[in-house]
Amino acid sequence: MSEIFHGSFTQQEPIPQAGIDAALAVMKHGRLHRYNTSGDEIAETAQLEVEFAAQTGARYCLAVASGGYAMTTALRACRVGHGDKVLTNAFTLAPVPGAIAAVGAEPVYVGVTQDLVIDLDDLATKLPLAKTLLLSHMRGHICDMGRLMTLCDNAGVTVIEDCAHTMGAAWDGVPSGRWGKFGCYSTQTYKHVNSGEGGLLISDDSKAMARAIMLSGSYMLFEKHRAAPPPETFAQIKYETPNISGRMDNLRAAILRPQLRDLGTLAQRWNDRYRVLEDALAQTTGLKLPVRPAAESFVASSFQFLLLDWSTDAVSEVLARCKSRGVELKWFGGAEPAGFTSRYDSWRYAPSPAMPDTDRILAGIIDMRLPLTFSLEDCAMIGRIINDVVNTVYQGQAAQSRG
Ligand SMILES: *Cc1c(COP(=O)(O)O)cnc(C)c1O
Repeated sequence: MSEIFHGSFTQQEPIPQAGIDAALAVMKHGRLHRYNTSGDEIAETAQLEVEFAAQTGARYCLAVASGGYAMTTALRACRVGHGDKVLTNAFTLAPVPGAIAAVGAEPVYVGVTQDLVIDLDDLATKLPLAKTLLLSHMRGHICDMGRLMTLCDNAGVTVIEDCAHTMGAAWDGVPSGRWGKFGCYSTQTYKHVNSGEGGLLISDDSKAMARAIMLSGSYMLFEKHRAAPPPETFAQIKYETPNISGRMDNLRAAILRPQLRDLGTLAQRWNDRYRVLEDALAQTTGLKLPVRPAAESFVASSFQFLLLDWSTDAVSEVLARCKSRGVELKWFGGAEPAGFTSRYDSWRYAPSPAMPDTDRILAGIIDMRLPLTFSLEDCAMIGRIINDVVNTVYQGQAAQSRG
């Protein structure tokens, strides 16, 4: 049996017709800038903010230019600046330490567990080092948020959530992004809704959100926002907050609104695909699947497994054999940053002490995108290919070590 898969791991679905129609309407009237409205028109961007606030249960929402911009704005709005230390996940992607560096702060990395969430014991020991945690729900894995918030609240550490992979997800029924002071989302093509580039920020904190709105480039037009704190909140803030433009435009908002209405269905379809893969690999020797706790309701836009304590050669062989059969896997343990993957110690602008326990886990994390253009049968075939390759390489290793 030597099946070969022919699908594309980077092909998303088209924009729904309602999004295309709404985008065309914006282009036809020409008012793409969010503050360019006619009469009592409510801009697409302002409507998107109202809808996303309602969807997450947040008091306030701000639409911005990217997920990375959402994170830097949240950090600035929490008054994180030059020389401050910010706790963040060692299992991460480049925009997260990048956002911390963008405000002149320094990342302090916290380890990862075998279930691919932040290591709360390691966090507990590092809390005294910083006043802020930029928590990435990396690849959609959510830690015990009740325990995390208790630890951080007791230590006086402000939590900002990076929800680039958890839009639509929740812990204990509370949406991801609603636990910390800010929730940051990306609407970039590879995330859960697609406007090419874009970001969203939610919060219940009036002052912090007023600062975020000023930061994003609202001039003195903040009264045009609907999911925003009342105008009196801006009384002092409007003089004290620099404009660091990063607004979202009406075209992107128009494309996003219908997709957000469909988020529940999209999540279900992703998770159906995830379960097919999980079933296909549940019995594979040498391969470990992360445990998904009952309190976690996730949105599986990607799939991970661990080849824990495998040699670099054996992992490389798995990747090469899968690739030759059309299955594109990414490796978080690679010595050099490649494509979208990198390691906490790839970033020489933010040196960090060695983390042997985390290095051991990162060295085994294999990652795969799960676009909705894959059918359930596609996922079953991918599962068979990975199972077959991992078995073959594992048996080869075992035979070698018997010598
Ligand atoms: C994509 C991503 C971001 C940032 O999103 P952009 O919109 O690309 O700036 C942040 N965190 C994680 C974990 C991401 O994958």
